Amino acid sequence: MRTRYLFVIGGVMSGVGKGISVASLGTILQAKGFNVSAIKIDPYINVDAGTMNPTEHGEVFVTEDGDETDQDIGSYERFLDKNILSTNYLTTGRVYKTVIERERNLEYSGRCVEVVPDIPNEVIRRIEYAAKVTGAEFMLVEIGGTVGEYQNLIFLEAARMMKLKDPTGVLSILVSYLPVPEKVGEMKTKPTQYAARTLNSAGIQPDMIIARSAVPLDNKRKEKISVFCNITSDDVISAPDVDNVYQVPLNFERDKISTRILNKFKVRPRTRDLKEWRALQDRIARAHKEVHIGIVGKYFGTGDFVLSDSYLSVIESIKHAAWANNAVPRIQWLDAEEYEKHPEKLHELKQFDGIIVPGGFGSRGVEGKIRAIEYVRKNKIPYFGLCYGMQLAVIEFARNVAKLSGAHTAEINPKAAHKIIDLMMEQKQNLETKKYGGTMRLGGYQCDLIPGTRAARAYKKRQIIERHRHRYEFNNQYREILEKKGLVISGINKERDLVEIVELPNHPFFVGTQFHPEFTSRPLRPHPLFNAFVKAGLKKR
Ligand code: GLN
Repeated sequence: MRTRYLFVIGGVMSGVGKGISVASLGTILQAKGFNVSAIKIDPYINVDAGTMNPTEHGEVFVTEDGDETDQDIGSYERFLDKNILSTNYLTTGRVYKTVIERERNLEYSGRCVEVVPDIPNEVIRRIEYAAKVTGAEFMLVEIGGTVGEYQNLIFLEAARMMKLKDPTGVLSILVSYLPVPEKVGEMKTKPTQYAARTLNSAGIQPDMIIARSAVPLDNKRKEKISVFCNITSDDVISAPDVDNVYQVPLNFERDKISTRILNKFKVRPRTRDLKEWRALQDRIARAHKEVHIGIVGKYFGTGDFVLSDSYLSVIESIKHAAWANNAVPRIQWLDAEEYEKHPEKLHELKQFDGIIVPGGFGSRGVEGKIRAIEYVRKNKIPYFGLCYGMQLAVIEFARNVAKLSGAHTAEINPKAAHKIIDLMMEQKQNLETKKYGGTMRLGGYQCDLIPGTRAARAYKKRQIIERHRHRYEFNNQYREILEKKGLVISGINKERDLVEIVELPNHPFFVGTQFHPEFTSRPLRPHPLFNAFVKAGLKKR
């Protein structure tokens, strides 16, 4: 079957769940028996998401092949239950970079290289290439941002050109938002009408509108959108707020979205259905106990608001594991800096069933995190350290158990008496030559598990592949001393002799991973270490 393309475009405002809409559409089409893949386009100049602050941009998701992408790629992976590779991530920076390099190589045979059509053509080339390598029968393409922005015009232009070339092979879906102003008490369609008009002015008529709102749409609203946006009311899909995002595919199907899409493409559904997704919702509904997890971090604030997006995959991983254990996750943000200013607050950690220190960079909040780790180590509260959370756990152990005073990471103190965590050789060069973008240890690497350890028991395997994103590493010079003092090294990358997992025996759960397990947890397949961590938490409770 030739690839059919579905462009998903946002209207009215950002943050209404375009990524989840794309992931859910994918899940539904996949459940009809098709090979589905999804592309995320980010309209910014950055070549990848790796150079952006997570409070500005949200989590940086890392693919198996080492791309630093937008968090939406993580949603696609979780919903489609498959790895998405760097071919499926585009940014304006990436597109322009290729075109400019090609121009420098005289690949345009001496002609003038222009924004249109050369830029959209490169976009189309990338989209078609991704479809080819993934073998996608349906390729979803999410265009970041909102219609009406200058930034994403070239991508809308690409969508328009693709439709012109293959009118029966391309659909455009507008994800819009319908506010219900408190004082008015009525759901308003006008912003959606404007969004559709703006899309029209880019030469695109939406084939379908996914109408996000706090509550389901009534028929009156559907008819209004139909008349003013020039689509049938059956093509207006009601998308109310949900308790958990994994309900969205089931919700979409209530409005028969897959039938509408397949009919438009004149494609017959194959077998399969959303059975596993229904079973997941049943399990969530039946969950009868709570598991209370604290995340000690620093990327929470944006102005007066708390943003949990920076740790999206961590949160999802906790949920997956909790649900698998019939528990309702209760997740709380704990600001590491508070423990520096008010050490007495550390006692609040006692009320948690488990504490996570997730990935991070730089010095802000580090001492607070180390204090929190010391507290949970001593008070036998289950602990799970992810990347920085592993490095800081090793530092805490070095300082307080092995009595190596001044132990630190070279990231914070390059002159530390004991650089327990240090830069690898090639990373020194990267930093000296200011090569920051895309140069961390990125993507999937093999790790051998040491039999008999907690990690090996959790995975029930000898070898795993997990995803990385870091510059600094456990310093092998300290391996022996720390092991003598009781630190267990339970995972090793054999190729480079790198410590990938540490743990402490005689503790209900104390594990740190140099990699990011949160990138590979899936709702239908929770990650083994998150699973073991949540189990330990429930046992404590
Ligand atoms: N800052 C640490 C490093 O670069 C940890 C990175 C992370 O937690 N992702 O090694």
